[in-house]
Amino acid sequence: MAHALLSASSSKRWLNCPPSARIETQFPESSSPYADEGTFAHSLGELKLRKYTTVMRKSEYDNELHNLMKNQYYSKELEDHIDNYVDFVKEKIHEADSRNPGEKANVLLEQKLDYSLWVPEGFGTGDVVIITSGYLDIIDLKYGKGVPVSAEGNTQLQLYALGAYNNFSMLYDIHTVRMTIHQPRLDSISSQEMPIFELLAWADSEVRPKAELAFKGEGELCCGDWCRFCRAKATCRARAEDSLELTRLDFKKPPLLTQEEIAEILEKAEQIQAWASDVQAYALDQAENHGVKWPGWKLVEGRSNRKYKDDSIVADELLIAGYSEEQIYNKKLLGITDMEKLLGKKNFEAVIGAYIIKPPGKPVLVVESDKRPELNSSAKAAQEFGVFAGTKNMKEQHDKVKKVIGA
Ligand code: SF4
Repeated sequence: MAHALLSASSSKRWLNCPPSARIETQFPESSSPYADEGTFAHSLGELKLRKYTTVMRKSEYDNELHNLMKNQYYSKELEDHIDNYVDFVKEKIHEADSRNPGEKANVLLEQKLDYSLWVPEGFGTGDVVIITSGYLDIIDLKYGKGVPVSAEGNTQLQLYALGAYNNFSMLYDIHTVRMTIHQPRLDSISSQEMPIFELLAWADSEVRPKAELAFKGEGELCCGDWCRFCRAKATCRARAEDSLELTRLDFKKPPLLTQEEIAEILEKAEQIQAWASDVQAYALDQAENHGVKWPGWKLVEGRSNRKYKDDSIVADELLIAGYSEEQIYNKKLLGITDMEKLLGKKNFEAVIGAYIIKPPGKPVLVVESDKRPELNSSAKAAQEFGVFAGTKNMKEQHDKVKKVIGA
């Protein structure tokens, strides 16, 4: 399906950096195996929900399912995840059906949602929209397993909700909208409920003015985490200047960096690394595939490791030479991800779930707003210094820890 210039999925970007929408049109759209797998997962989910919500002949369903199962992205594991999502949507349909006595919920799948009342030419596609008098439910499937996506303040879902309200407010008196993101691979479900007047106020005060700027290609360029999926991210001057700003920091004496300065560098380091990788990937692609010669740089063959030309011939030769199978083969259990793929999620849990452990991860520094609980490094430091020796109680230990860390 064609995408709107001001699509809901890129809305965080154009709401924060309005000129990005027009700038991006200078770059070709690209896909990835992850995106293609996500599209396939949506098709499977839609089919299963269509069977549940409409009158569909069994032979028709079996035929469509059979075709999907031949797709390169089909696996038992993927189907288990989609079943999990489908079960969740069924629950929400039941909930909606029992909301108003005598009223059956209106369920729409892969519905085109038109929010052009606030955003020029704006439309998107909602995976699931459930409508009853008073209540609108928007459910979005995200098949990725990178990071859990929160529904709180999620502009993509809020635009879908605006579109659904625009499409159906003539037929239903809607006062509340609930927006939900379901990420079955992360066992993550995030919801936000909002009174419709709040959504409409946001649309008028925030969306409409920014969308008008974005549609005209006007407004201020502004960098942030929304740059990550911008097609201009490698060559955008604003992002380059923002990333390089650190080098212009006016560090004063003393010669060693202070704690505040190191904290400032940590804050920027992630952004600089991401930006530098984007520029490197872009420059390599241009040199390798488009004949671009960057001044002072050349394309060479990278380092590589030795490998067998043909494993079976090598094995035969070794056995003929008198080496045993035990010597030349290394028998290893499949890794957890591959094993889960082989068994399917439910079977995996049933057969070996009790034998899976998750060892503590290596400590990492993250910003204070990160949701993970803080590790108690001061207690560890105290143990390393042996300061608990000779202490009688917790209070004495606590005082000593504070002394060690200078608190
Ligand atoms: S890279 Fe960032 S700052 Fe540059 S156009 Fe894209 S979103 Fe805007």
